[in-house]
Amino acid sequence: TTLSAPPLDILLEEIVREHRPRKETGAVPGNIPVLAAVPFNRFGIAVATTSGKVFSSGDADVPFSIQSISKVFTLAMALQRGRSGLLWSRVLREPSGTAFNSLVQLEAEHGIPRNPFINAGALVVTDHLMEETPDAAAHLLQFLTRQAGTGGQTGQEGGPAPFIDEAAAAGELAGSSRNLALAHFLKDFGNLTQPAAAVVENYVRQCSIMMTCVQLAKAGLFLANDGQGAPGAVLSPSEAKRIGSIMLTCGMYDAAGEFAYRVGLPGKSGVGGGILVIVPGQCAICVWSPRLDAKGNSLAGTAALADLSDRTGWSVF
Ligand code: GLN
Repeated sequence: TTLSAPPLDILLEEIVREHRPRKETGAVPGNIPVLAAVPFNRFGIAVATTSGKVFSSGDADVPFSIQSISKVFTLAMALQRGRSGLLWSRVLREPSGTAFNSLVQLEAEHGIPRNPFINAGALVVTDHLMEETPDAAAHLLQFLTRQAGTGGQTGQEGGPAPFIDEAAAAGELAGSSRNLALAHFLKDFGNLTQPAAAVVENYVRQCSIMMTCVQLAKAGLFLANDGQGAPGAVLSPSEAKRIGSIMLTCGMYDAAGEFAYRVGLPGKSGVGGGILVIVPGQCAICVWSPRLDAKGNSLAGTAALADLSDRTGWSVF
């Protein structure tokens, strides 16, 4: 931290005060009906440190839909204990420069998605996990619950344990033509082993997991802590580093460059308005505010992280 920065708990309160009020209305995801109903002035932030402390402010104990932040954790599960197998022959590690749910590259590149964080790549990861555990979403929920439950904290903690919002999942599934199209495309190219509909259903349920900022910051801490989670190693230091690298280059879809420019940290967003960010060796940060920019990333969340990074000196650069 820079010497001029106030203590973290005070700083987080300032961030909430400054970034919660917003002039831009922003967007909400059109394909997930329940997300349109979340009050737009929600704003929460939590920081979980590698020394075992948790700081939080605002709506940090209010559960929200983690959506694509789940893609970081399914990738981590796929890389655990040598489970990656053929995964890296089925999905690349290059930024896409296209929207998260785009179909165009998938045909041009013969059914091999650019990276595991766009929808096409995440469907491949979920398919890979389903080969071992058919209910991959429930397995992910167990993993997140265990990781979120770890460590001491100085911040207040509340809210229910992580859960799957089945109504949100059903609502999204009813309008999943695009994700089904991606899955069928993958299947046609021989890059899906399970039935397309089963993969999309699992994927939509994994996206519908509800967690708080505090829980997500704690669950993501192993990525900032050389792979050490609860209990013990989740990943090797090298695997944790690599997930951070993919977050930096691909975590914000076609806004990855702009986010790296503004925030300077590996991050992963979701259309629920959450963003998980890693400060290697120091902490994991989760911010949540539901209104989105045109690329599907939280407007206030991105602005708050840019501010926090400037004021603390937290950056990988
Ligand atoms: N469930 C959402 C979808 O597939 C997740 C997208 C996101 O968070 N970017 O459209």
